[in-house]
Amino acid sequence: MRCPACRLPLLTVEVNAIELDYCAEDLGVWFDEGEIEALLGCHTPILTWDGSGAKGKRRCPRCNTKMRLFYPVLGLELDICPNGDGLWFDAGEVEQLTTALQRGHDKPHLGQIFSQLNRMIGGQR
Ligand SMILES: [Zn+2]
Ligand SMILES: [Zn+2]
Repeated sequence: MRCPACRLPLLTVEVNAIELDYCAEDLGVWFDEGEIEALLGCHTPILTWDGSGAKGKRRCPRCNTKMRLFYPVLGLELDICPNGDGLWFDAGEVEQLTTALQRGHDKPHLGQIFSQLNRMIGGQR
């Protein structure tokens, strides 16, 4: 798969037995459908997209369809595949989501998992 932002090949990193794809150039991360929930051990969807949102400039790394803009929490703009392949986070957006989720839900281990993810991505740069 190629990075939706810079088109370089994405690298894989394993975090808690989940394989994520990330870009070493801009430190963005791709989550396949359900991977966020799998990573956090949740059985219910954490992010639900209502199908709204304008077309963005980027294309899905899996199906090459133009992704749509998705605003799961205030101030956070993600790219989502309209065919349900997954979600793209730019650098820093995972932290933004973590902060918002920690505020809204009682998931104290969230921050820990994401900081592990960030360490692994950052450490491989
Ligand atoms: Zn990139
Ligand atoms: Zn797709």
